[in-house]
Amino acid sequence: MFLDSLFGWLGVDMGIDLGTCNTLVCVRGEGIVLNEPSVVAVRKGTNRVLQNGNAVGVVAKEMLGKSPGSISVIRPLKNGVIADFDITEAMLSYFIRKVTGGNRLVRPRVVIAVPSGITAVEKRAVYNSAERAGARRVYLVQEPMAAGIGAGLPIAEPTASMIVDIGGGTTEVAIMSLADVSVSDSIRVAGDELDDAIINHMKRTYNMHIGPQTAEQIKIEIGSACQLNEELTREVRGRDMISGLPRKTVVTSQEIREALKEPVSQIIEAVTRTLERAEPELAADLVDNGVHLAGGGALLRGLRQVLADATGLEVRIVDDPLSCVARGTSVYLENLSRWKDTMESDEDEA
Ligand code: ADP
Ligand code: MG
Repeated sequence: MFLDSLFGWLGVDMGIDLGTCNTLVCVRGEGIVLNEPSVVAVRKGTNRVLQNGNAVGVVAKEMLGKSPGSISVIRPLKNGVIADFDITEAMLSYFIRKVTGGNRLVRPRVVIAVPSGITAVEKRAVYNSAERAGARRVYLVQEPMAAGIGAGLPIAEPTASMIVDIGGGTTEVAIMSLADVSVSDSIRVAGDELDDAIINHMKRTYNMHIGPQTAEQIKIEIGSACQLNEELTREVRGRDMISGLPRKTVVTSQEIREALKEPVSQIIEAVTRTLERAEPELAADLVDNGVHLAGGGALLRGLRQVLADATGLEVRIVDDPLSCVARGTSVYLENLSRWKDTMESDEDEA
């Protein structure tokens, strides 16, 4: 009995959605146990994580844009994939420790969802960080596959499933069938670019400087990709670029939509471009199967509609788009012994 539970515990398996904005961790049999921003606070100019390695996630995000000169608050995956290896490792290690309770005897097997465009060097970095963080065995799965599985799509069947996952740093577009990615595209235009477009609009139109967190709030509260039945307004606070003093103003959903137009059209283009590259049989399947939107960006008002108009296909938002990839990794965990030969692992690399 004791040994059983001990081994069950030592054999803990973990699935990780290493996103550019949010990292989610699930444990086999327990579902999602951690959901925190992919953010780390370090002493400026070093890789030393503050608070003895604990200024990660929620704690670090609160410091974002508000840190004094001696502290850098970093999103190590922000600009696409892995911009900063050491800090990504520190972050992954913190999250794994948090889930295992810091018990060094717990050597989990870990399934990590990574963007499909990740390079060999970046893969190596993910393996290394997870191993140094205590993983016994590391498996990588392509993020759009995990998203498809999490959304309950029939990705293993001989029919096409299409996922558009709009995260913070990247939009991943993939058409899959028979448990493999047939065509895919990954662009570095997603939630962050929408926020930047709002920051620029405030500068140009109001001479007002706003921070990334404020821009994100504006996007979530009144942002849209097509006309709304009831247009919205919102008060915005920031710093006047001429007087240098704090002030506030009011913005409308119409002007924010205009500001978001450029990045939104880049996302639409990535989707239509991928459709054009699909094999005709798979394209034909998509007429029935439609397109599935995942990731936080899927929640932008009206985006589903403009994508449906641009493609002529049915476009649906998956259930709980922010946790879809993590739920997919947990399905991989349930089937680890059956599927492990189909996944890339650190063993192949060695
Ligand atoms: P990642 O996988 O890169 O970590 P997520 O799938 O967690 O990204 O999505 C995060 C992005 O989704 C952020 O840019 C965030 O601002 C955006 N987001 C979250 N909720 C909404 C919403 N309701 N409307 C528009 N964007 C949203
Ligand atoms: Mg993601």
